[in-house]
Amino acid sequence: MPNPEVRVLDGGFSTQLATYVGDTIDGDPLWTARFLVTNPTAIISTHLDFLKAGADIILTNTYQVSIEGFSKYMNIPEAESLDLICKAVGYARKAINLYKKSIENEANVANRNPLIAGSVGPYGACLHDGSEYNGKYCSNLTEEILMDWHRPRVQKLIDSGVNILAIETIPCKQEAKALVKLLKEFPSSKAWISFSCCSDGKSIADGSNFQDVAMQCYREALPGQILAIGVNCIAPQNVTSLLKGINENCEELVPLVVYPNSGEKYTVENGWMRTEEGYSLHQFVSEWLDLGVRYIGGCCRTNSADVKKIRAEVEKWENA
Ligand SMILES: [Zn+2]
Repeated sequence: MPNPEVRVLDGGFSTQLATYVGDTIDGDPLWTARFLVTNPTAIISTHLDFLKAGADIILTNTYQVSIEGFSKYMNIPEAESLDLICKAVGYARKAINLYKKSIENEANVANRNPLIAGSVGPYGACLHDGSEYNGKYCSNLTEEILMDWHRPRVQKLIDSGVNILAIETIPCKQEAKALVKLLKEFPSSKAWISFSCCSDGKSIADGSNFQDVAMQCYREALPGQILAIGVNCIAPQNVTSLLKGINENCEELVPLVVYPNSGEKYTVENGWMRTEEGYSLHQFVSEWLDLGVRYIGGCCRTNSADVKKIRAEVEKWENA
């Protein structure tokens, strides 16, 4: 019997983008969002690289897009910022169209009809101080503030025709819950929610229990609205203990999403630094699929070559 279908995601957008624009991204308060204005061609090429590597789903370059950020650092008014979100979706669509043209005459292509996921980064990402890895800001913000902050981007992504929302790197319980509530305003939309977690193997960044928060979100959402729950931007060796147990003794599979980083560690002072362990995410792919992961890709410091390897591991597992 064939295994259930697994979707391969793309890798770290900034990492692949850097092959076109150089090492100019991480120190920028707008991060990759700036290139929506300055270098759309590089954005399209980045998406295209991931599609050619075998991604079934590509994420829009909107993780760090905020109306405040564009206004503060580029003097861009609100309406134009929202228009840039629409353009970001357009660049992903353009890449898919180019890709589909390129495979027209090829027979054995696994990812024939790639989808677009609208990236919804946390409020903390726009603070540009590593907040999405500790979630400290959440205790100062009400649910209403968080919903109001997220609403325009979510609305614009949906209006621009994304297939899915990738709610990602969420570090705190309040923000996850605010997003689940916000999704109810868009009942026909579908999303995954992926958390920013600690290296202790059980908690999200604000210290709450990952499995409790993730399952609460899954159950509190409209039926079928949450496609998967999971983790991203975490060292690969810390993933398994977070996910283990969710699908034990479960009548129906709770689909999981995982897209770890390379295992390097990020600090605002030093950027990405290699750590001692040197695990590779590919060695864990089949283990995670066995635990119920159905959406799998890479986050920061992973590139199109990593996606290609993930695709190969997924196919090995599917055919096993
Ligand atoms: Zn990341």
